[in-house]
Amino acid sequence: MKYSIITLFPNLINSYVNESIIKRAIQKERIEIEIIDLRDHTNYSHNQVDDYQFGGGKGMVLMVEPVVNAIENCWTNESLIVLTSPQGKTWNQNLAKKLSKEYKHIIIICGHYEGFDERILDYVDMELSIGDYVLTGGELASLVFIDSITRLIDGVIQSESHQNDSFENNLLDHPVYTKPVNFRNKSVPEVLLSGHHANIKKFRQEGRIINTFNKRPDLLKENKLCKEDLEILNKLKNRKEE
Ligand code: SAM
Repeated sequence: MKYSIITLFPNLINSYVNESIIKRAIQKERIEIEIIDLRDHTNYSHNQVDDYQFGGGKGMVLMVEPVVNAIENCWTNESLIVLTSPQGKTWNQNLAKKLSKEYKHIIIICGHYEGFDERILDYVDMELSIGDYVLTGGELASLVFIDSITRLIDGVIQSESHQNDSFENNLLDHPVYTKPVNFRNKSVPEVLLSGHHANIKKFRQEGRIINTFNKRPDLLKENKLCKEDLEILNKLKNRKEE
């Protein structure tokens, strides 16, 4: 997967992608990250990329020409062009999976200031938001997209890790523990120390259902649960009603 990030702040992107899993994915050549400085694509003097909005009002607006120049400079017929925007479709794990499978090149445009000249939308395939709040710029959002997609690319992390992550099969992940076995009189559940793999598997599946029921009941899709999982869920519901 190749990502091309169009930004006014290349250092913000650089500092994140040179650490941890993203850095290793680059080293293993599973992904490539191209950081494009928007100011390198303007024809205006003094590297100008923004101006006041017509009609009056506070805040500078990113101009259409530099953004389109930057897109056209990296676009191929395999590219998906994403605009970071609080007005876009809200990002989630299913979208991360879809993009990780269906695309080889994602161009991400990071906005700033008051936003973009509306005509930029004519050059965009997808407008994506990371949630219903307003950030100063699109850099954090672009990193959220890159990180969550990259984890799902073959060979980046062990597939077992992300197959058990939250949102797989509409469930949250189960609770996890590490050393020490006892902390201030609170112990790790006995079953996890037993070495009994079938019991551990059962305990973890119960943990997924309990976590989802307690924290995100909106995710639970009863028609997608197996008989054993439905039994656990019904017990939880009955306990709540008692
Ligand atoms: N005036 C714009 C509005 O209300 O729709 C917000 C502009 S915001 C200050 C500047 C830039 O940050 C946006 O153009 C976008 O690139 C990015 N941004 C802000 N919030 C975002 C969010 N929730 N998800 C993705 N990108 C966001």
